[in-house]
Parts: sequence; C-alpha cells; structure tokens
Amino acid sequence: MAEIKNVGVIGAGTMGNGIAHVFARQGYGVLLCDVQPSFLDRALATIGKNLEREVSKQKLTAEGRDAALKRIRPSTSRAALAECDFIVEAATERFDIKSDLFRELDALCPPDVILASNTSSISITKLAAQTRRPQKVIGMHFFNPVPMMKLVEVIRGLATSSETYRIVHDLAVRLEKTPVEVNDAPGFVSNRVLMPLLNEAMYAVMEGVATPEAVDEVFKLGMAHPMGPLTLADFIGLDVCLDIMRVLQSGLGDPKYRPCPLLIKMVDAGWLGRKSGRGFYQYEKS
Ligand code: NAD
Repeated sequence: MAEIKNVGVIGAGTMGNGIAHVFARQGYGVLLCDVQPSFLDRALATIGKNLEREVSKQKLTAEGRDAALKRIRPSTSRAALAECDFIVEAATERFDIKSDLFRELDALCPPDVILASNTSSISITKLAAQTRRPQKVIGMHFFNPVPMMKLVEVIRGLATSSETYRIVHDLAVRLEKTPVEVNDAPGFVSNRVLMPLLNEAMYAVMEGVATPEAVDEVFKLGMAHPMGPLTLADFIGLDVCLDIMRVLQSGLGDPKYRPCPLLIKMVDAGWLGRKSGRGFYQYEKS
C-alpha cells in the first residue's frame, strides 16, 4: 500500500482535535471533518492553544507550531476523504452514526486504505462488517488528552489482517505513542477493567460506605492513582460511563456489569460531570 502522508480525521470533538494535533505535529497532512463549521473552528482554536502550550514548555518551536497548524485542513465535506491514505474515525459514540460512516468511507476511499475507529466500546468486528474490506478495519483507541497520553489500544477485529495491525502499530510508534495489542471484546481492555471500578466506587457512595471525597482519597493515597475514581468519572462524563457499562452488560451478559442506580439517576437528572457543571462534584460552567 502507498506510504501514509495524508490522514483523514472524522469528528473534531474532544478526541478528534487531539488526534489531528498529534498527526499534524509529526508532519502528516490532516483533513479534519465535522458536520458544522463552528465545530471545526472550535477544534482549530483548541489545537492552536494546545500547540502553544508545547511551545511554552519548549517541546516545540514556534515554526513547528505554525507548520503543524498549516497541515490541518478543516472541512464539512467528506468527499475529500477520498484523497487520504489513512482514516481515523472519531465521531460521536453511536453505532448508527459510525456504521453509516463506515459504509460511506468504504464507498469513497481506495480499497487499500485502512479505516480505523477511535471508538471506546463499539465492536470493531461489527464496524468492519459494514465494509467490503473487513481486513482493513481496526480500532485505534487514543486516550484523553491525546497529545499527553502515551497509550494507543490497537484493537483487532475478527477479520483484521496482520498487515493492517502492523501498519497501525508502526503509525502509533511514529506518533510517539505506545501501542498495545488487544482483541475485539466489549470495552476492549481499558474500559472492561476501568468502568467496573468506577461503577463500584459509585455503589460505595450510594450505599453510604464513604463520601466521594473519601473514596477518591483512598485511591489517590493508597493506590497512587493520579485521580480518584469519582473525579475520573466526572472527567469522562457520567453519560459516557453509563453507555459503556450498558455495552459491558449487554455484551458480556454478566449481572456484575449492571450500572449503579445512582449513576442512572444522575444521568437522568442531567448531572453529567465536569461538562454539565455537576456530577459527583460541582464545577464552574465553562
Ligand atoms: P465529541 O462529542 O466531543 O465529538 C464527536 C464529534 O463528532 C462532534 O463534533 C460531532 O459533530 C462529530 N460528528 C458526529 N457525526 C459526524 C459525522 N457523520 N461526520 C463528521 N463528524 C461527525 O466526542 P469525543 O469524546 O471526541 O468522542 C469521539 C469518539 O472517541 C467516540 O467514539 C468516543 O467513544 C471515543 N473516545 C472518547 C474518549 C473521551 O475521553 N472523550 C476517549 C477515548 C475514545
């Protein structure tokens, strides 16, 4: 397959802007797609701010920052994705949105182009089955905030070829990330292990075992976690936590994955964590 020079990133939200940032910083041309110009403007402003932070920490020169920004082309039209050598989809975590996108990308992109998804929990095997190139569909799961976090979970769907895996592994290394190989299963490894921990911490609060502050202190001081589980749940978004618990519950069928009733109640109330101003803690609305 052709050398990867131009990368298409679909979705310019929290993850898409970080993914565009790290590819552009390493010299790749990036076509950043979203559905509204205002989303693209916001993403470019965030990328500019985050690159500037790297300049102030002397990790990047001012010329490097300007060159990286110039390599990112925002677009609300997905037709130009046909010219990209590699695609990372980071759109909203909904199967209907992603399956439509994978069918469209399959029709649009040359047959040798790899289609990667940054999904946190949707089956790579199911996304691959929307295309006529399941051997070229893979999970490339970055972590938030993308420019800072080293891990990329590389998820092999049932039909993903070893060549596709190798290319994505090498690409992650070129982005100065550490790829870890996992097979397709609900929640992969990261969320399969992390989410039940956060959910159990919520049960401890709901049952009055301890306050959110006390639960978080136990994990920070006793387990050297940089952030306690309830602070982390607020950071991720309680709606996202609930969606992932439901994927684990339906995908694995074991009652141990049932979402904590307090989590369900808080999401019903619109208490979604940091982004809504209230979760297990209160935040000033940005
Ligand atoms: P987000 O809501 O911040 O951004 C999603 C973006 O996708 C939005 O700007 C939306 O307008 C855009 N979008 C939706 N449909 C589209 C389409 N058809 N074409 C182009 N753009 C479209 O979400 P996010 O947190 O960036 O999550 C994106 C993906 O990354 C999800 O699959 C999520 O599970 C995964 N993920 C998120 C995190 C996290 O911490 N937020 C971590 C790892 C993986």
